[in-house]
Amino acid sequence: MGKNTIYTLPTQGQSYDDIMGQVKSLRAKMTPGQRGKLASTTFQGQEEMEKVVHDAFQEFLEWNGLFTFQEASAAKMENEILDICVDVMNGGEQGRANLTSGGTESNFNALHAARKWARETKPGITKPNIVAPYSTHSTVHKVCKYLDLEVIVVPQLADLSVDLDGISNAINENTIAIVGSAPNWPYGTVDPIEEFSVMCAEHDLWLHVDACVGGYILPFFRELGVEMPLYDFRVSGVRSIAADLHKYGYAPKPCSTVIWRSQEEQKYHYMPITEWACGLYLSQGFVGSRTLGPVAGAWALMHYWGKEGYINNAKRILHVKDSIIAKCNEIEGLTTWQTHGPLLMIAAEGFNIELVVGGMEELGWRLLGVQEPAAIHLTLDVMEEEYLQQFLTDLENVVSEIKSGNIDKEGLLSYGGVGTVETAPKWLLSAMEIFEKENK
Ligand SMILES: *Cc1c(COP(=O)(O)O)cnc(C)c1O
Repeated sequence: MGKNTIYTLPTQGQSYDDIMGQVKSLRAKMTPGQRGKLASTTFQGQEEMEKVVHDAFQEFLEWNGLFTFQEASAAKMENEILDICVDVMNGGEQGRANLTSGGTESNFNALHAARKWARETKPGITKPNIVAPYSTHSTVHKVCKYLDLEVIVVPQLADLSVDLDGISNAINENTIAIVGSAPNWPYGTVDPIEEFSVMCAEHDLWLHVDACVGGYILPFFRELGVEMPLYDFRVSGVRSIAADLHKYGYAPKPCSTVIWRSQEEQKYHYMPITEWACGLYLSQGFVGSRTLGPVAGAWALMHYWGKEGYINNAKRILHVKDSIIAKCNEIEGLTTWQTHGPLLMIAAEGFNIELVVGGMEELGWRLLGVQEPAAIHLTLDVMEEEYLQQFLTDLENVVSEIKSGNIDKEGLLSYGGVGTVETAPKWLLSAMEIFEKENK
């Protein structure tokens, strides 16, 4: 690694205009909104809702989400959001929920509760594991590392579906949970949660559903007649669900939820602290202080849109999905995978899909990918028709340029760009250096 030049705090301050000039110029260099929408690491939604979400966020930006017990207004927003979230998951009167900082924390909280439950109810288990399909999100693996839970990964079948016999055979005397997804990130399909539920009943296991990406959009796809397997509390074995408001709930980040079947599950979540000098400390999740802004943003959008708004939004995303599928069917060599929700994967036959990513990148489209098997990963968001049509035209042109041998720059099939190191922050270069040393 090169010389580590250290940036220091400027000696003197600058004016508001100077600073905002710089902030705006930094912002202007980022991927333009509309083009960023298909690769979505952002979840921007429609322009008409942006203002209400931003303004609500602004109002509560300085408030600390850790101290909502002191403020009736904060409690009202939390109560109403969490009741809505329980209801969206068909949790009924027994359902309970907590606000968290993101899918990572929601998965962490759920698996932490599962581990605590197992410690109490299965004291014989000293090396607990969970069983999960290969399609499970990286953050589940990450939280299991923090929690010292082994993950027994079951490879997908050739058609990318879950190997149910494999899951069943992987369960052993140290298994405490099965984790399924709705939908899983790499393949976009809802896992067979009902079948997992049967196995969990048979072996007395905790069933956790990672619905981080799908939780707040699949119910509205279903309203539009899209068929998919059940994954929520209507499935009797489901004990916890992670669902991100900051994805298709369009709340400002960071904002997610963990929803529990009942207080019986939620009781394993809380970590009340009394062994310090300032009395009872009881927080909603793992994270402490945070801005209340995202909570206000989530509350505002839920009431601005109502169910009708979420259904309309889902309808517009389905239109984007259908348009891309139709175009890929027309372009020889491109295929799409059948998915249940707002994720869509495009694979290639006869040429390298990385070339499509590279070619599209040249035109300003930054796309995510799946590596096994290779495909472009689209996290569909509503798009202005004009940009959607531009995307389709660009896609067609890029493929024809590849066929004529005019594109040789391969793009990376990745989850949000680790590997594009020229512009990467220093912490990441340092982290990669450590990773590479340890994996030599
Ligand atoms: C996004 C996502 C997560 C992680 O969420 P963060 O909000 O980035 O912490 C977990 N699981 C799935 C399926 C996701 O799509």
